[in-house]
Amino acid sequence: ANAAPVSIFSEGWLRRVYEEKPVKDVRSRFPPEPNGYLHIGHCKAIAVNFGFAKYHKGVCFLRYDDTNPEKEEEKYFTSIYDIIKWLGFEPYKITYSSDNFDKLYELAEELIKKDGAYVCHCSREEVNMQRGGPDNRGTRYTCSHRTRPVEESLAEFRAMRDGKYKAGEAYLRMKQKLDDPTEGNPQMWDLPAYRVIEKNHHHRTGDKWRIYPTYDFTHCICDALEGITHSMCTTEFQQSRVSYDWLLEQLDMKVPKSEEKGPMQREYGRLNVGGTILSKRRILMLVEGTKVEKKNADGTVETRTIPPSVRGWDDPRLYTLVALRRRGIPAKALVNFVEELGVTDGLTEIQPVRLESSIRKHLERTVPRQMLVLDPIKVVIEDFADEDNQEVTVPYDPKGTIKGERKIKIGKEIYIDRTDFREEDSPEYFRLAPNKIVGLLNYPFSIRATTFSKDASGKVTEVRAVKVTEDKPKSWIHWVDAETGIPVTARQYNSLFKSESPNALDWKTGGWADDLNPNSEIVFENAVIERGLRDLIKEHSLNPSGASDDFVRFQALRTAYFCVDVESTEEKIVLNQIVSLREDKSK
Ligand code: ATP
Ligand code: MG
Ligand code: MG
Repeated sequence: ANAAPVSIFSEGWLRRVYEEKPVKDVRSRFPPEPNGYLHIGHCKAIAVNFGFAKYHKGVCFLRYDDTNPEKEEEKYFTSIYDIIKWLGFEPYKITYSSDNFDKLYELAEELIKKDGAYVCHCSREEVNMQRGGPDNRGTRYTCSHRTRPVEESLAEFRAMRDGKYKAGEAYLRMKQKLDDPTEGNPQMWDLPAYRVIEKNHHHRTGDKWRIYPTYDFTHCICDALEGITHSMCTTEFQQSRVSYDWLLEQLDMKVPKSEEKGPMQREYGRLNVGGTILSKRRILMLVEGTKVEKKNADGTVETRTIPPSVRGWDDPRLYTLVALRRRGIPAKALVNFVEELGVTDGLTEIQPVRLESSIRKHLERTVPRQMLVLDPIKVVIEDFADEDNQEVTVPYDPKGTIKGERKIKIGKEIYIDRTDFREEDSPEYFRLAPNKIVGLLNYPFSIRATTFSKDASGKVTEVRAVKVTEDKPKSWIHWVDAETGIPVTARQYNSLFKSESPNALDWKTGGWADDLNPNSEIVFENAVIERGLRDLIKEHSLNPSGASDDFVRFQALRTAYFCVDVESTEEKIVLNQIVSLREDKSK
């Protein structure tokens, strides 16, 4: 019999998580807050949670953790679901934390009745002092609200619900171990369970609630209500595991010190990408632009307006998943990459070049070749005869790994790239120059340049050449037939910031804007590509919905990997560079 293939789920950290609770019906969940677009780090969370369930033939929920009506927007919900499908996963059910608002409220009352929670009216500063001050190191103490009668807390909690209090005037706090000086875990120091939110209109429950449950109160209960068996999250929540279990045990939703009844939380290391920013707040400044205030030493205040610096949340220079999709990174390659990095409880930090090299390997084996000229110069082959006119059939992949072929017109006028021509020849130069011979890929003969002309600004506009059939050229260049080639716009991308650690830039007073790389996007408005691109587009689709992964991608010979941008139309095709052909070692 064949051995089962090795995967991140069959051994290592994820295997051990399963073995701690080897149930038959695995239920996991991916619980994003719908307050922004997902980024590459979330791809790991998706691959871990959906992949774990798939591997064990269980189910995975997509649960929108929508407990903060101030920050949520409809567009985020749609995008999150789209991206999960794009990555190749399908949620068993889509749920919302808010589905459980009634139940959560009931359980909060139950907790109060069990003397496990109290309504507190202390200010935020006061609560911080009780919890040992700003560094959590001071002496901890409790407030008088903690010992108020259960009946009083119950009445006050209902009053919170009914609108008696403004935001910040009352909290429901869990009665954990703030009174125990030996309890060293801040997650056990009487965390808030409910707070009043005044800007409270919720996208699903409308104006019904003025009080909303916190993450610490909601997450574990929703896990339990959905029958989640393995609840995996990132290591920032390691300290929360104790409060997670504590609350479920108080509510008889989990058996103490056992993994039998109730969900089990385990924590894996985040995936971070260097050289870019992932924080939603910071990306928003790039997307929308921002106004910042800077206080000078003399007390005057300067306002600086920073315009938007990217095309949107899906700008190919960003590392949101919508951006990586738009840039043309194949979903499968992305999931494979994340899995190859492995899963442990340690942080994984990578540089973009590592992602790019993995994507490059995937594209090399999967996409057809095309000829694309970014910055064209016309070459006229003077002795091209009528009988030289022909059409040649060229395979999509010279190695034959990628099936298919296209037809290329052989004509008298072609375009070559400006970087492949020099006005003056030199011995160490092997491309086209006056009197020099160069080979043309997929073209029946080589050419030798004779003369060239320039415009008023000194830019070469046209090269004249003749056929060469005897001498063998030292190098071959790519070209596009002038008559049948299609005009396109091609965009190449470089890193958004000059600094290698943009997170360390000044994000308070706008200093980051001075570090933006002026060459992060290079646009070739007059690029031209062989007409075969039309067939590739017909075979696929422009895929504007993005739900599938049916993008048109290709390797432009000697240039880079590209995809057809989603904003392309019949009249105007826009290309995005996915990755370069080789790692640029100079960077
Ligand atoms: P961020 O603060 O980076 O925007 P978040 O943690 O607020 O992210 P959530 O929507 O709460 O985003 O995340 C949903 C799930 O994704 C959580 O379980 C979280 O632990 C996980 N997650 C978030 N960021 C990463 C990351 N960089 N690597 C791996 N998993 C992540
Ligand atoms: Mg979060
Ligand atoms: Mg966060």
